[in-house]
Amino acid sequence: MIRVSAGTAHVLGLKSIQSDADPTTGYFLTGEACRGQCAFCPQGQGETGKLSRIIWPEYPVTQILAAMKEQSSLKRYCLQVADGNQWLESTVELLQTLHREGLAVPRCVSCRPRSLEDTQQLLDAGADKVSIALDACTPEVAAQVGRDWQGTWALLTEASHAFPGRISTHLIIGLGETELEASRCLQELHILGITVALFAFTPVKGTAMAEAEPPDIGRYRRLQAVHYLLRQFGAQRFGSSRFGTIAFTPAQQAAIGPAAFETSGCPDCNRPYYNERPHGTMYNYPRPLTAAEFQHCLRDMEVSAGE
Ligand code: SF4
Repeated sequence: MIRVSAGTAHVLGLKSIQSDADPTTGYFLTGEACRGQCAFCPQGQGETGKLSRIIWPEYPVTQILAAMKEQSSLKRYCLQVADGNQWLESTVELLQTLHREGLAVPRCVSCRPRSLEDTQQLLDAGADKVSIALDACTPEVAAQVGRDWQGTWALLTEASHAFPGRISTHLIIGLGETELEASRCLQELHILGITVALFAFTPVKGTAMAEAEPPDIGRYRRLQAVHYLLRQFGAQRFGSSRFGTIAFTPAQQAAIGPAAFETSGCPDCNRPYYNERPHGTMYNYPRPLTAAEFQHCLRDMEVSAGE
């Protein structure tokens, strides 16, 4: 059996849901019960069928493989691997199965490798990218939410040198970091050549952070803009205001394009409604923005809750 996100099940014709944005990547949740205890994640509370606010129904692997061969709109497959026993062996086996079945779509793995050798095995088995989730922007924030920041950073650094262009990470905004700390972290990851997927913290019922607030939209938009400018124009200096928010120069401000506010990460990863409730705040747009939405996001950037 394998779990797929509700949106992916919909695209694969296995489940009917109402959606105004379909995933362009197929998301699969694999691995046994996670051994982690991250304060923001339902997996650590034994909710094996949930990740962020998304429900992941379970299907036989053969049914999923047959459905994958039938459809052509998914441009990438993403294996989200829970940190359970035997996760590496089962992920390698699944990657090899996808290859054997002739499913010639780029595939990536989001997991917690322990070493360069683990990472190498996943790449050798057919992953084009391996995402090693840093999640927290600083060691202090990581300690508060139950993550090992130093160990993950050391592996990210090592892997980015060993496998240039093939390492990515997830960064969650709103776990307790300041705006400037998040901006510095984005800059350092960019310098290492690591692809970053930016997430907005999403409180999930039953987790230790169920009552915490999602990030202020002004802060999130400014960090999306920082991320965009880094990707478009490379490492650069970002100023700060007396309130501790990022202060863009007029040239930086003028260079911000609508793609800044789309979902970021691996190519073709759009994660519809991963952080958003339908009709709620649209942190990551899963599709190109309209002109009105872009103007709205630029206005969001001016909103400051202070530090
Ligand atoms: S960026 Fe998207 S496709 Fe890449 S590992 Fe993360 S969730 Fe998967």
